[in-house]
Amino acid sequence: MKNCEYHQIDPQALSTPNPTPPPPPCAERKSKRAKRKWEVFPGKNRFYCDGRIILSRQSGVLPLTLGLILVTSALFFIFDCPYLVEHLTSCIPVIGGVLFIFVVITLLQTSFTDPGILPRAGPDEAADIERQIDSSGSTSYRPPPRTKEILINEQLVKLKYCFTCKMFRPPRTSHCSLCDNCVERFDHHCPWVGNCVGKRNYRFFYSFIVSLSFLTAFIFGCVTTHLVMRSQGEKGIIIALQESPASAVELVICFFSVWSILGLSGFHTYLVASNLTTNEDIKGSWSGKSGSEGSGNPYSYSNIFTNCCVVLCGPMPPSLIDRRGFVPPDDAPAAAPPQIELPTLEAKSDINMCTRGPKDLSPPAPL
Ligand SMILES: [Zn+2]
Ligand SMILES: [Zn+2]
Repeated sequence: MKNCEYHQIDPQALSTPNPTPPPPPCAERKSKRAKRKWEVFPGKNRFYCDGRIILSRQSGVLPLTLGLILVTSALFFIFDCPYLVEHLTSCIPVIGGVLFIFVVITLLQTSFTDPGILPRAGPDEAADIERQIDSSGSTSYRPPPRTKEILINEQLVKLKYCFTCKMFRPPRTSHCSLCDNCVERFDHHCPWVGNCVGKRNYRFFYSFIVSLSFLTAFIFGCVTTHLVMRSQGEKGIIIALQESPASAVELVICFFSVWSILGLSGFHTYLVASNLTTNEDIKGSWSGKSGSEGSGNPYSYSNIFTNCCVVLCGPMPPSLIDRRGFVPPDDAPAAAPPQIELPTLEAKSDINMCTRGPKDLSPPAPL
């Protein structure tokens, strides 16, 4: 167990217990404003509302996503709903309204939530890890440099060293090159939502794409019904389109987006049911090791329902970057380094779930 530790910064060690900065002890410090951690954050993220909102630096597509949803829904409510309420049922705007609100809320939650960024190691921690790397490998077998191997559910999992964050990445963690952060249970970087999708915002992302599929299919169906009803009788479809040109715009947007959104929802439903991430699926992390008893995804419960519950309804882990906390003043006595948790694999929900049942989390093979 001693050899399989990875370094994780304890959120408690980073958080500042006092919400207000401590009173400056001398007049010199009065001029200095206490900086918050988001102001000196090393990753390529943008922060708004004094650090409350986090976004990727390249979040230019998010207004487009939001704009497409807003414009299409507005056209639907203004030009299609009155006709459909008059000739069909008043439930249509109610269903559309509920879906629209749900889509917008889940989109903003995905975009503005910390996806599970791991704080970079401090100088003391980095030096400590360097010492461990240098001192290891005295026995006959030596793993490739800058990697560690641990056993999860009787399966060997490699932990890679991140040269930017100066630490061994915990299992399922990957470094996003666009945000320049290590993200826990990294799924992918989504330009459409302007954020990484990871451990803390995957449930919002999944809810967003599923509800967006329903909304797009609903609008598509309603607009088609509207045009068909208008074109009945002596009028043709051309006259119907002339009478309601906005419907044509909605039809085009929905037609071209519904297939990709439905496909994406189906793909992520498969990932949720198998407790996989897009990153693992693309890399084929667990598919290439067939034949042995411990092959397959070590994080899967082998039960679709349990996998869905764990991925979508599990407890929300706390944000580790403490972006609203205060940076300790430079001239203050050196603060204690963040507490390093030695192999508290039980603390990680992803690992924890692998320790259930007859399969036990075993210590790594002797190096
Ligand atoms: Zn990293
Ligand atoms: Zn990213």
